[in-house]
Amino acid sequence: MPALPPIPAPVTLPIHESHQRFPVRRIFCVGRNYAEHTREMGGDPTREAPFFFTKPADACVPSGATIPYPPRTADLHHEAELVVALASGGRDVAAQDAAALIWGHAAGNDLTRRDLQAEAKSARRPWDMAKAFDHSAILGALVEGPIADAPITCHVGDRLTQSARLSDMIWSVPEIIAHLSTYVDLHPGDLIFTGTPAGVGPIARGETCTVTVGDLPPATVNLA
Ligand code: MN
Repeated sequence: MPALPPIPAPVTLPIHESHQRFPVRRIFCVGRNYAEHTREMGGDPTREAPFFFTKPADACVPSGATIPYPPRTADLHHEAELVVALASGGRDVAAQDAAALIWGHAAGNDLTRRDLQAEAKSARRPWDMAKAFDHSAILGALVEGPIADAPITCHVGDRLTQSARLSDMIWSVPEIIAHLSTYVDLHPGDLIFTGTPAGVGPIARGETCTVTVGDLPPATVNLA
């Protein structure tokens, strides 16, 4: 019998101006949470309730890393997003109680193999291989505490590709937490990617992509 594999190391992320690290439990992501992006993806922003997909915790990549261009795609896309990090959990959380679950926030990039996502959509198959691949969750250093309305941007190299405000979200962060907590019991360490504004597009080999959310530390990734 071969030896059992070693117990995997926990996934942790840097905290801004701290030597402590944030332990990641799971990653949930919201689809279509900005009206203009919903339209660019062919949806109707007036009628769709929030829906969710996931990435594995070990898809996390801290800002500044260089990652290999992912396999099985010719159309890797960026998605600039606010990421919410939970300090505590719960089920059937009321929106007015949801802020109390939040530890802090980060800038994030929900990397997407857009060609595989289009194939999955047309074949009515799951999105996992389009969304939940290795190195697919780029995160800036986390900042503790609440966040006010702020600009959210994405640059590929020097080119501004996404520009919106957090207040453009269709579903607010408390509403997202409330909805998500009706599907799963939320837990400390869970991350929630809260959706991307319009302007998603490709990142080519050799390019650098940077997401900013207000004054949060940026989430930058270099494609090998
Ligand atoms: Mn996304």
